[in-house]
Amino acid sequence: MDYIQGFDRKQEILFPAKIDDYIEEENLVHFIEAFVALLDLMVLGFTHAEVNSTGRPSYNPADLLKLYIYGYLNRIRSSRKLEKECFRNIEVMWLLKKLAPDHKTIADFRKNNPVAIKKVFKEFVLFCKELDLYGGEVVSTDGSKFKAVNSKKRNFNAEKLLQKLKDIEEKIAAYLKELEENDKIESSIKLPDAKELKEKIQQMEERKKEYEGLQKTLETTGETQISLTDPDSRMMMGNQKFDVSYNVQTTVDAKNNLILDYEVTNEGNDKNQLNEMATRAKDILEVESLEVLADKGYYNPEEIRKCTENNIIPIIPEPKPKQFKEGNVPEPEYYENQFKYDSNKDVYTCPGGRELAYSGDSIKNKKNMREYKSDCCNTCEFKSKCTTNKNVRVIFRWEHEKVLEDMRERVKNNPDSVRKRNCMSEHPFGTIKRGFNQGYFLTKGLVKVAGEMGLTMLAYNIRRVINILGMNKLMEIMNPG
Ligand code: SF4
Repeated sequence: MDYIQGFDRKQEILFPAKIDDYIEEENLVHFIEAFVALLDLMVLGFTHAEVNSTGRPSYNPADLLKLYIYGYLNRIRSSRKLEKECFRNIEVMWLLKKLAPDHKTIADFRKNNPVAIKKVFKEFVLFCKELDLYGGEVVSTDGSKFKAVNSKKRNFNAEKLLQKLKDIEEKIAAYLKELEENDKIESSIKLPDAKELKEKIQQMEERKKEYEGLQKTLETTGETQISLTDPDSRMMMGNQKFDVSYNVQTTVDAKNNLILDYEVTNEGNDKNQLNEMATRAKDILEVESLEVLADKGYYNPEEIRKCTENNIIPIIPEPKPKQFKEGNVPEPEYYENQFKYDSNKDVYTCPGGRELAYSGDSIKNKKNMREYKSDCCNTCEFKSKCTTNKNVRVIFRWEHEKVLEDMRERVKNNPDSVRKRNCMSEHPFGTIKRGFNQGYFLTKGLVKVAGEMGLTMLAYNIRRVINILGMNKLMEIMNPG
């Protein structure tokens, strides 16, 4: 028994005469071709979407867009790799009719069209919406960190700069000391490294100037960080470790786990994103009301209030540990969450069984508060457990507290919401980062990375729609009749 043999390389064979014969009917490239043909690239704002009347002809943006969509669907993102594929990949040859742009042309297309590329993602969302693939009832909002083109070493904050300057001072002092000691013995033995030491001191002085310049920039701009390679990127926590990244926000619709919308921000946390993302989702879906699931990172009373005013119903678990840690309350049984509010009487009942009535307004943490007090505190047998205050115990109620109480109730009545949210939001991020290997950016600057992310999100949605409908059905929709 022998191994399976390949054919003889010297033997003459006849390849099919048409490139089309190599591409099977269900091949993804048919969909890419048909989808790009539907787009009005001039309206979307692509450069060179209009044919030049003079000068050297440029590549059609449709061809470059097709190349990128194909690349992002197949884990090929670098312009040099895409250039190579034009020569050796039969699917790309079919898609681009054997055109082979050089890597610079390919890279420039992505760099120069970030806004238009983002609109292509939106066009696909609208296409999916027409196919009724979005349910429009429940969405999940989530954020994930994607690594920027900026190493940790090239990111600075005030503290890091101070430490760097301190280190330099110490190094310069050490070099100077060494130099001085060398000078003392120079008369008898000429040491060879004096010149070298002076050069090192010079280098340190230059670096010191650079760091001082960065310190000044931080002071004048009011920024907390500076990134030198990609100025828009920021050091932030993701997956339990710090890295220089961007925070990518998505909303995912519950019906088919399709991405509805995304935004790239350089804010390290998700606290201020809820209302913006949920409102945009509601507008895209054109619905009267929308339920939005999010994790504890989005728990921000003000954002929750804005959502409810906008007919958006958030379901977000409360981050308990910090919320209820109260420095002036000795015993946890007397923490604020143990006081029960009666909305009919507008009073709180304390764990000691006394009622605390409304006693006036105040401002706390920039929020308008209503204060509740009891006359019984000073004679109460539980006072030492309840408060360290000399006066009575005060309960502060945010003027919109009802919004949070209603949400607590919703969280309680929807115990499955956390699991549901995990399935909805973490699936796209997991697929994008591990399946597509696209957990890091190749471009720089907020606008460009947002464009690049458009290609990633589009690739995810295309794969998902093919999984849902199947290639044949999708092509029937694209080419009716
Ligand atoms: S100190 Fe006041 S609030 Fe606390 S248990 Fe006693 S009566 Fe209630």
